[in-house]
Amino acid sequence: DLVPVKRALLSVSDKSGLIELGQALAAKGVDLVSTGGTAKALREAGLAVRDVAELTGFPEMMDGRVKTLHPMVHGGLLALRDDAGHKASMDEHGILPIDLLVVNLYPFEATVAKGGDYDDCVENIDIGGPAMLRAAAKNHAYVTVITDPEDYAPLLDQLEQGGTTARFRQECAANTYARTAAYDAAVSAWFARTLEIAAPRRRAFAGTLAQTLRYGENPHQTAAFYTDGSGRQGVATAVQHQGKELSYNNINDTDAAFELVAEFDPADSAACAIIKHANPCGVARGKTLLEAYKAAFDCDRTSAFGGIVALNKPLDAETAQEITGIFTEVVIAPGASDEAKAIFAAKKNLRLLTTDGLPDVKAGGLTFRQVAGGLLVQDKDSGFIGMDDLKVVTKKAPTPEQMTDLLFAWKIAKHVKSNAIVYVKDGATVGVGAGQMSRVDSALIAAMKAERMAETLGLSQPLTIGSAVASDAFFPFPDGLMEAAAAGATCVIQPGGSMRDDEVIAAADEAGLAMVFTGMRHFRH
Ligand code: 5GP
Repeated sequence: DLVPVKRALLSVSDKSGLIELGQALAAKGVDLVSTGGTAKALREAGLAVRDVAELTGFPEMMDGRVKTLHPMVHGGLLALRDDAGHKASMDEHGILPIDLLVVNLYPFEATVAKGGDYDDCVENIDIGGPAMLRAAAKNHAYVTVITDPEDYAPLLDQLEQGGTTARFRQECAANTYARTAAYDAAVSAWFARTLEIAAPRRRAFAGTLAQTLRYGENPHQTAAFYTDGSGRQGVATAVQHQGKELSYNNINDTDAAFELVAEFDPADSAACAIIKHANPCGVARGKTLLEAYKAAFDCDRTSAFGGIVALNKPLDAETAQEITGIFTEVVIAPGASDEAKAIFAAKKNLRLLTTDGLPDVKAGGLTFRQVAGGLLVQDKDSGFIGMDDLKVVTKKAPTPEQMTDLLFAWKIAKHVKSNAIVYVKDGATVGVGAGQMSRVDSALIAAMKAERMAETLGLSQPLTIGSAVASDAFFPFPDGLMEAAAAGATCVIQPGGSMRDDEVIAAADEAGLAMVFTGMRHFRH
């Protein structure tokens, strides 16, 4: 079933590997046809090439918008070679069969990534390229189609045997449709971002393969990392300075860490988040990064081992030194000083990632979750609660200091898997209860961990005594709230909205707590 290649049409934006490919094809006696820039490059390398304009009888026109959109090209790609009617049409119109198509598209994604203006991006939407690719891929029974310079070598291997196999052409077709689908999805996503269309309706989803990963969440799962072209600051756009390649779990956890720490404006204070398994095991702010890191670490020293550290300011030497005190997988920050980099250089296994800034936590975007047979799509949770949105519901109102800790705890609760209970004191978490099926258990577990930390730190009592507590969703009954009060919390922030709010508020008053309602929930499942 080998199909030989007698004529090839080459039209590439990315000209890497083009000359070598052209030479190899010419050496096999393949007739080369090409568009303007591609033909020029091949000719300069001394190869004989026919212009596509010669084939079509039309010049390339309208700034290249119309080059190959012509029956001489599309007929040559789409004709069924063994069909009498198709053959008759080819003879009648002098259409030559094209057996190999090598196209890579106008660099739309790269133009967006480098901040091209509106007109520039629009002009970089390739029309003729995808049309040819889709035509050739449809006719894979006869035509071989290549879209990626990485596939030139496998193609030449095939041609060594005298032609391409049916299986090879089918795989090429599959890759081609993946590429054209991703290309159009990138265009659609760019429009959505540019026009600030938030609602996840009629959206095409696709990413650009950034990296194949060693494995997925577990070693028996294969995995890859795709970027979405949004250019959002974070793990996808960060520069890695040292250490081995990031794993699937590292990327997931690093993202959780950076998105959390970005909640805290560096103009207000330094902040640090330490993440394990996508949940924070310590978050704190401080006058300096060092102070913030130490306080975050003291929330749960046991869990911080092997964690991911995210900072809201460029990493400095003192903080870098302190972080090297325990094993840490990844540190991500909006920059790092040369001194800090030098300190980390001695720790070969520690990965340092830097970005040009923090992710914009108020920016829109979509999140995806797969379910059997489908995909759930929603707006990012960029909900924000300020002091003015809070409603005091108890007899006692929080003091200004308590209010500050309540809002701090609330921002963290948004990033903790539900049911989330977060105890905070003096700008640092002192207990985090995550991912429990019962809110009471989350309150209990967080308090238990705080007790254990008090022993480790040699304190006379757990730091939850006199703390502020946040709950990501309402307390359906007073029991969870009572656990928090038993742990020593003196003020509470929660959405409110339960059928039993009255009971919960009465219980809070009885326990002498100050409680505020946010009116907004932050489930994270
Ligand atoms: P060249 O550098 O050879 O002048 O142009 C190559 C690029 O043109 C390729 O990316 C190819 O996909 C694109 N291309 C080929 N035919 C057409 C066409 O008819 N219209 C548009 N807009 N692009 C085309």
